[in-house]
Amino acid sequence: MERILITGAAGFLGSHLADKFLAEGFEVIGMDNFITGSTKNIEHLLSHPHFQFIEHDVTGFIQIDGKLDYILHFASPASPIDYLRIPIQTLKVGSLGTHNVLGLARVKKARVLVASTSEVYGDPLVHPQTEEYYGNVNPIGPRGVYDEAKRFQEAMTMAYHNFHGIETRIVRIFNTYGPRMRLNDGRVIPAFMGQVLRGENLTVFGDGSQTRSFCYIDDQVEGIFKLLFSDYHLPVNIGNPEEISILDFAKEIIDLTGGKSKIVFKELPVNDPMQRCPDISKAKKLLNWEPKVDRKTGMKKTFEYFKQFSTEELRQTQYKDFKKYIK
Ligand code: NAD
Ligand code: UDP
Repeated sequence: MERILITGAAGFLGSHLADKFLAEGFEVIGMDNFITGSTKNIEHLLSHPHFQFIEHDVTGFIQIDGKLDYILHFASPASPIDYLRIPIQTLKVGSLGTHNVLGLARVKKARVLVASTSEVYGDPLVHPQTEEYYGNVNPIGPRGVYDEAKRFQEAMTMAYHNFHGIETRIVRIFNTYGPRMRLNDGRVIPAFMGQVLRGENLTVFGDGSQTRSFCYIDDQVEGIFKLLFSDYHLPVNIGNPEEISILDFAKEIIDLTGGKSKIVFKELPVNDPMQRCPDISKAKKLLNWEPKVDRKTGMKKTFEYFKQFSTEELRQTQYKDFKKYIK
């Protein structure tokens, strides 16, 4: 059996990847320190005969006994609220964590795929974003801790590839959503859905003209799976190119959920990218991949997930203090 280590396995993407690799017949080792993840995301896997979980912070030396064929490095806070709350940990997991993962890959002769992000393009001046675009990132702005850690991660991964000859893959993930996102992680989909379920108004930041392009989790996982087994080591965008403004998206969510919420406008966070849309020509050509799940279908599935939360859980995850993160 082939053996794969997934860092960040108790998170949203990591847990879905663990499901996928187990279903494909791999032995999966999940690793996480639960800083933004949850045991709930992996409890269905704990009794699986081919799943092993190690609680560990990957910014410290990573010890794995036995062989490893692949590593997926997904450990990192991913939502703006999270990385503003824990900026140093965010910088460390993208830098020191990546260094440890690459060192482990070298020793084990494993192929490693690192989770990069559309945030490496910052507030982009090229639209849609192609992999050739270098980006427009403010290193000292609030998002700098995440964006620069991810840019460092890419540079370190390329250096290990070029200098040590290890097999590397880099995925640039664009906004991905679906079940197991944290209700209070502050990202726009859990934020809006939580607000609808609590009967609150939807908080659109700025005038809502900024755009995003949302990719359903199943499509993202399929793209990552294909990239890992491709022979391409340069970064590849994986996301859904269907772009929508945040204001239209808020209206769409109210329609879709039948909620009675209204829209209220709040201050736009500093350095919030005004446009984001992946150019996925490379993924189409190299991986024969493109997203299959339309936004309506994906959003319905996601709302079904959030609807399971009790009134008490919804109350506890109420996101009251967003102002403190905007300033
Ligand atoms: P998430 O917060 O749900 O998952 C991240 C997981 O990593 C959590 O379980 C957390 O506890 C764990 N983690 C963080 N630091 C760690 C450390 N030092 N040691 C061990 N575990 C640690 O976020 P997600 O949305 O699943 O994102 C996963 C990865 O994908 C991240 O690297 C993120 O940057 C990348 N990504 C996600 C998106 C998206 O839209 N979801 C977009 C771009 C990039
Ligand atoms: N956003 C919003 N209201 C919210 C949360 C987010 O209008 O309650 C906006 C945010 O300003 C950004 C977009 O939604 O323009 C996507 O934000 P998210 O945090 O999901 O991720 P980002 O793509 O900015 O990293």
